[in-house]
Amino acid sequence: MAYNYDLIVWAAPIFTLLMVLEYLWGKRIGRQTYRLSDAMTSINLGVLSQVSGVVSKAFSLAAFAWGASYVALPIAAHLQDFWHSVWGYAAALVLYDFCYYWLHRLGHTRRVLWATHSVHHQSQDYNLSTALRQTSSGFLLTWLFYLPMAALGVPLEVLFTVAAIDLFYQFWIHTEHVPRLPVLDKWLTTPSNHRVHHAINNIYLDKNFGGMTMVWDRLFGSYQEELTEHPCVYGTTKPLNSWNPIWANVAEFSAMTRDSTKALKNRAFGQALWVWLGTTNYRVSAASGDALPDAAQPMRFDPQWRDKGKAVAIACFLVVAVVNTLALDGSALKPLWQQWAWLALVTLGCWATSANYCATQSPPLSAGGATPKCR
Ligand SMILES: [Zn+2]
Ligand SMILES: [Zn+2]
Repeated sequence: MAYNYDLIVWAAPIFTLLMVLEYLWGKRIGRQTYRLSDAMTSINLGVLSQVSGVVSKAFSLAAFAWGASYVALPIAAHLQDFWHSVWGYAAALVLYDFCYYWLHRLGHTRRVLWATHSVHHQSQDYNLSTALRQTSSGFLLTWLFYLPMAALGVPLEVLFTVAAIDLFYQFWIHTEHVPRLPVLDKWLTTPSNHRVHHAINNIYLDKNFGGMTMVWDRLFGSYQEELTEHPCVYGTTKPLNSWNPIWANVAEFSAMTRDSTKALKNRAFGQALWVWLGTTNYRVSAASGDALPDAAQPMRFDPQWRDKGKAVAIACFLVVAVVNTLALDGSALKPLWQQWAWLALVTLGCWATSANYCATQSPPLSAGGATPKCR
């Protein structure tokens, strides 16, 4: 629901600078958390998310307005001055974070929502670029979770402002270089408790959903602190095994379609529907019965570059970054055909960036990412 594109354009150089600093720091202390392929993919997913957001915003705004017309409470009309005050913004931020908590929690536990949110979790690395790794299908259902704000009459400009604050806050928490912080870790969303959120160790699964605070997690029983004896292993229990940002966005939807089709062929209509609306099952795909990899033995996806692939991929990545930054500026005012053309161009560029690897067998994570040669 955050449509602050000019803010993103303004923030892009700061994000870039902080990522470079994190990379240099990792190099200096001999603990590098970046891989070029992974970081380029995460950033491209952020770019795609922003571009598709421009195109899809009409849908989610219309859906939100339609929902709001049903849920608005009589008191909403009397609260307009309040929402525009400092206390009103503060209250809206708390309310937004509460709604975000439930969106995020169900985003992990309901399959149709996980299909959207899983994009943010596919990286097997954990660094500031992971924060930019965002979905492009959020427009479909995200608006539903912010209807309580519409019920209380929170104006759209206030909603967008607090949404941007919540989103921007979450940038700094995606790093391995900030250690545990006493007291703060218990109440605020911090690097330590968000590392737990991104980890696939059994003890950490489905924990710490809060956007800015751990209060909701502590209230609703999903808080887990980071434990020295359980170093975080990042990613998804069913690895994506691809650098393709387009596939990253559709992989789970494709799996659900496959599973529900299989159920339909068996005339199991209830199960076909449950594939979409039911709970996420990390171990067994609900309808297909496919066993998923053991979370304790994840495979690191780290394929080889094709000949000159690295240079071509970097060139494509830079073109996408520059074109996107220029196009994003004032994007809301551009004609629709230009927005679609820009989405097509950026999608093509993101795909081209990812198409420079040869498929290789993924080695176990414990093997340190050594990969076979291209054949
Ligand atoms: Zn999450
Ligand atoms: Zn995250």
